[in-house]
Amino acid sequence: MNSAAQDGTYDLLVVGAGIVGLAAAYAARCQGLRVAVVERQARSVGASVRNFGFVTVTGQRAGDHWRRAMRSREVWGEVAPRAGIQVLQHGLCVLAQRPEAMAVLEAFAATEMGQACELLTQAQTAQRYPFLGQGAGALYSPHECRVESREAVAQLARWLQQEMGVVFHWNTSVQGIALPHIDTSRGRMRATRCIVCPGHDLNSLYPAVIAQARARLCTLQMLRVRPARALDLPAPVMSDLSLVRYEGYAALPQAQALRARLQQEQAEHLRQGVHLIAVQSADGTLVVGDSHVYDGAETPFAQEATDALILQELQRVMPLPGLQIVERWTGTYASADEVVFKAAPAPGVVVGIVTGGTGASTAFAFAEELLAMALD
Ligand SMILES: Cc1cc2nc3c(=O)[nH]c(=O)nc-3n(C[C@H](O)[C@H](O)[C@H](O)COP(=O)(O)OP(=O)(O)OC[C@H]3O[C@@H](n4cnc5c(N)ncnc54)[C@H](O)[C@@H]3O)c2cc1C
Repeated sequence: MNSAAQDGTYDLLVVGAGIVGLAAAYAARCQGLRVAVVERQARSVGASVRNFGFVTVTGQRAGDHWRRAMRSREVWGEVAPRAGIQVLQHGLCVLAQRPEAMAVLEAFAATEMGQACELLTQAQTAQRYPFLGQGAGALYSPHECRVESREAVAQLARWLQQEMGVVFHWNTSVQGIALPHIDTSRGRMRATRCIVCPGHDLNSLYPAVIAQARARLCTLQMLRVRPARALDLPAPVMSDLSLVRYEGYAALPQAQALRARLQQEQAEHLRQGVHLIAVQSADGTLVVGDSHVYDGAETPFAQEATDALILQELQRVMPLPGLQIVERWTGTYASADEVVFKAAPAPGVVVGIVTGGTGASTAFAFAEELLAMALD
């Protein structure tokens, strides 16, 4: 199956082969459109392969965004087995290290978003997750899943090309769009519609339109660590610091007391935007992070002191003596007060950016919205 048009005109050309662009290509092929993806790099190397691969539902901003995450989780569930993508972990365990955090989790569990989640007492937490440090209890959410992004995104692109008939133009930069013409670094292409998914490139295509998003760049530090002793982490783990970052919790009134206490006890973590997500890969290593620095440009230099804060939080949540650091990297995404930005700068052209740092969790649903706009 190949969706290349005989006269060279695609029904849809997608700019960018990050998870948002790939999700848009998938949604369009599901509707039978002839689709091409144009990516300036040789493969996806942006935020989509630098993240945790953590498809997070619980904790997303209440309302539309939480629904996007629920829908995207559903699509991941359909696509992963078809595309040969391994789901490595299911669910989420949020450890409440302090009573104030437990109060946030209890309040969360009472909301619509807490349905199907389980509150665990201190004793239940210790029994189910014996490797965790002491806490006041925990929340277990069944909604999440976790993939190895760097493999999953590459595999998704391969599957879209080989089985779904999407045409890929790698190493090709889109320089201008005036439908049906799309000018690229490798010549002119033709399409009746175009969805631009540029990630954190805010300045190449439609910069004046994208400026309406009022986005800054957010750079994060990440590490891969190997525990000295074998550890089986059945679900990704988060902790108190996450409860004042993730809006689904942070917007609850109970989060104020937690924030005040963290300000007293972990001010430097808050200042560096450090919180903890720990996920596990097939080889037993853990991917842990992260920190958040906001600026007008990417921050190229990773700070050792920031990594130390991340590791300190990991050791509090999950004491792991003899930990070995095997990899460090940074990643950048566009960040704004609104969690997504979408605009139609010209008939048939749509620009879409996830501006909340949650694209792995929401891209499939967001892409359906972008496609509906492009077809409108
Ligand atoms: C360290 C880190 C951790 C994260 N953790 C999580 C997480 O656990 N869960 C979660 O849900 N989200 C997470 N995120 C956020 C998530 O990774 C992003 O929201 C998502 O990857 C954005 O996808 P994207 O396709 O928009 O961007 P990208 O992956 O950056 O892809 C955009 C692509 O567009 C291409 N492009 C841009 N302009 C052009 C052009 N003119 N021509 C051709 N190609 C072009 C770029 O080369 C790039 O490949 C994290 C992000 C980071 C950085």
